Amino acid sequence: MTHCASLIDTLRRRGFRITPQREMIIQALAHGNAHATAEQVYTDVRQRSQAINLATVYRTLDLLVDTGLASRVLMADGQALYSTVQHGPHLHLVCRQCAATFTADASLLSDIEQVLESKYSFQADLQHISLVGVCEKCRGS
Ligand SMILES: [Zn+2]
Ligand SMILES: [Zn+2]
Repeated sequence: MTHCASLIDTLRRRGFRITPQREMIIQALAHGNAHATAEQVYTDVRQRSQAINLATVYRTLDLLVDTGLASRVLMADGQALYSTVQHGPHLHLVCRQCAATFTADASLLSDIEQVLESKYSFQADLQHISLVGVCEKCRGS
């Protein structure tokens, strides 16, 4: 089963109605680049159907996030990037001076995850987040 077919299948088994619009949006996210903004998904599906508006795209992407099938990461510029779960855990490091981005291993935060869990009984979603800081080049080292 292809990745997008299994996402659609999972939603259906959980009792969500899969409209043709939802299906197209899920396909666009699953088949596109690792990350997409809602606008990028919208541009993609509009090439195939005029019967989709941006609000539907947002609602469907939020549904995927709420059901754990996709994740949403807020970048420093306030843009939200979406990716499906197939796109595994990782962190985005964003330089606030030159806007360069780097990818880091999400397991770096497993200690923090455990402390939040044991001390605050809080289960943090740290598998796909962005951290803002200053990169090596901009630190002038
Ligand atoms: Zn920099
Ligand atoms: Zn990512």
